[in-house]
Amino acid sequence: MALDELQVADTLARPLRDLRISVTDRCQFRCTYCMPREVFGRDFAFLPREQLLTFEELARIARIFAGLGVRKLRLTGGEPLLRRDLDTLVAMLARIGGIEDIALTTNGALLARNATALAAAGLRRVTVSLDSLDDAVFMALNDAAFPVARVLEAIDAAAAAGLAPVKVNMVVKRGVNDHSILPMAARFRHTGHVLRFIEYMDVGTTNGWRLDDVVPAAEIIAQVGGRWPLEPTTPNYHGEVAARYRYRDGGGEIGVIASVTQPFCRGCTRSRLSADGQLYTCLFSAAGHDMRGPLRAGATDQQLNELVTGIWARRADRYSEQRTRQTSRIKPKPKVEMSRIGG
Ligand code: SAM
Repeated sequence: MALDELQVADTLARPLRDLRISVTDRCQFRCTYCMPREVFGRDFAFLPREQLLTFEELARIARIFAGLGVRKLRLTGGEPLLRRDLDTLVAMLARIGGIEDIALTTNGALLARNATALAAAGLRRVTVSLDSLDDAVFMALNDAAFPVARVLEAIDAAAAAGLAPVKVNMVVKRGVNDHSILPMAARFRHTGHVLRFIEYMDVGTTNGWRLDDVVPAAEIIAQVGGRWPLEPTTPNYHGEVAARYRYRDGGGEIGVIASVTQPFCRGCTRSRLSADGQLYTCLFSAAGHDMRGPLRAGATDQQLNELVTGIWARRADRYSEQRTRQTSRIKPKPKVEMSRIGG
């Protein structure tokens, strides 16, 4: 049967195209907007190893999803490169029929030493997170004394391994790193890499989010465009999360991810698998659907297929859109499990 015949659509006619796989809930950074140390401190109970899906289980789930129309996989976390031998998983995923693209989102700390093996295994693209070029600002944000230079080295190593252009994710928080917008733009112009500015999101009660902390994408575009004129460009594909802009002088392109001010639920074709096998159809879903239980209880491919089809067919969430309309009224805020954020 042709792959296309099995595709599913949700209640808003959105097809299932992407699967973000969190391979671990652990991270060596304690970014204040993501895994703040007050919450993810010494005593925080991360998942024990046996609760993580194995590479074989992940590959099996990915194969089920590919059969339902998924074409893109993104590995994320936590910090995905903390999962040992990640290139082995990439190679397993790359062999799945229908998968056209495998990407990785990483903080870059372990990327330089792994880039060649990952590219050889079939990784196609990498997104590296970097919030400032200023060590003091970056270290205050990552709260792990991790220097900017090591992330820049990682980006170079990824490019040298054939993973160029690299996407660089910068979360912008007002009064914290918004003065880093222009230096970051200057650094990545004419490099071929694509800097993406991300509006600071509310991820539940853990990061103390306030609307005042968000620098709207329109303001970021006005700031960068005021210095180097920009023009909008077309999306690379349906459902792309970043709005793309091109420097008029040929300096390359940037993106903005306006999850707060211009949510993109209508084009959302993404599902997310947490490290312990919970399937979420939205970053902000209150609850996931357990895949690990049935998987370990001996479910057949057909049963897993029906499970995912049923979950996706019932999907009706438009959480970001609703939140944007009601931001000041939503209380209490739903808690997002951070390992589900994947850039
Ligand atoms: N550890 C990896 C990394 O640092 O890229 C992957 C996981 S991280 C959760 C994925 C992306 O989510 C990063 O680019 C990060 O900056 C972004 N992110 C985390 N918390 C965010 C927030 N509150 N608002 C917007 N983006 C956020």
